[in-house]
Amino acid sequence: MSLVNSIISKTMPFLPRWAAKPFAKPYVAGESIDEVLEIVQRLNSDNFSATIDILGEFTRTKDEAVAIRVQYEELINLISAKSIDSSISIKLTHLGLDLDYAFCEKQLLELSAYGQKKDVAITIDMESSKHTDDIYKLFKKANKLFSRVGAVTQAYLYRSIDDVIQLSGVNCNLRICKGIYKESSKIAINDKNKINENFELLAKTIFDGEGYASLATHDLNLISNLEKLIQNREIPPDRFEFQVLYGVPMKSKLEELKAKGYKVTVYVPFGKSWFDYSIRRLKENPKIVSYVIKNLFKK
Ligand SMILES: Cc1cc2nc3c(=O)[nH]c(=O)nc-3n(C[C@H](O)[C@H](O)[C@H](O)COP(=O)(O)OP(=O)(O)OC[C@H]3O[C@@H](n4cnc5c(N)ncnc54)[C@H](O)[C@@H]3O)c2cc1C
Repeated sequence: MSLVNSIISKTMPFLPRWAAKPFAKPYVAGESIDEVLEIVQRLNSDNFSATIDILGEFTRTKDEAVAIRVQYEELINLISAKSIDSSISIKLTHLGLDLDYAFCEKQLLELSAYGQKKDVAITIDMESSKHTDDIYKLFKKANKLFSRVGAVTQAYLYRSIDDVIQLSGVNCNLRICKGIYKESSKIAINDKNKINENFELLAKTIFDGEGYASLATHDLNLISNLEKLIQNREIPPDRFEFQVLYGVPMKSKLEELKAKGYKVTVYVPFGKSWFDYSIRRLKENPKIVSYVIKNLFKK
């Protein structure tokens, strides 16, 4: 099956959108705000929190970037009005970082102020290393003014431990993930075990400081190690949560985590840019093909 998976995942980018849609469906919560909110309310009723992401990055014009901010504000407004348990996750290139730094800063501060007013938290996703410095600079500025703005650290980057040491004194929410972009071995760890070791080190460093850690991984061994760390250090449940991407199969792990009283948040992407996102998921894990095919036949 792995050869079939690999062939399908490589040909996906060349398929028409209608043919690709079944592969996207498990990982993307529709194209509209109504669709995503319905899914998030269902997750809430199963005791999951959520963080909602409007799919897309690298906007080409300022008008496009402003439209994205306005759409996020609409989302924040509805999350608040309907008392939905969800934060939002944003990418600064989606808000115009590649177009104009000062413009992006203005957009971020405006959105952060709106989130603070409506009591909806915001996490700034981390992007490729080309943007890391700018993203942290903008994050620090927003977080100083609006405490509900958090950021992300990537365990595959050598620099992350220094970033986290600097940020862990700040009372903020830091998501730890392995990192998804292709990076040079000069700046990124290649060895999977070493990335996991660094992930644990970043978690320990946040727990030693004052920050809150969002532990974003589907790696069951890593999750077990993080649970051991939490138990050995008697870290209270209000200092961390586990996070997963919508649709990624996790066996019974999420139910187990919830039964232990841990918060579990699902990252729920939606929007018209579902095609690129799905291609990325497929390239990352061609095993998805067999999972999707199984589900198609089940239905
Ligand atoms: C909530 C959340 C937010 C994230 N935010 C960012 C971010 O801001 N910046 C960034 O660079 N990266 C982000 N990522 C992606 C992350 O960096 C990893 O690329 C991704 O999570 C895969 O790593 P893993 O820890 O799950 O471990 P892996 O070792 O890659 O995967 C463990 C197992 O989980 C399964 N699996 C993993 N990913 C998938 C998938 N997508 N579909 C199906 N099965 C899968 C596989 O079976 C695999 O064997 C985020 C991930 C999560 C969960």
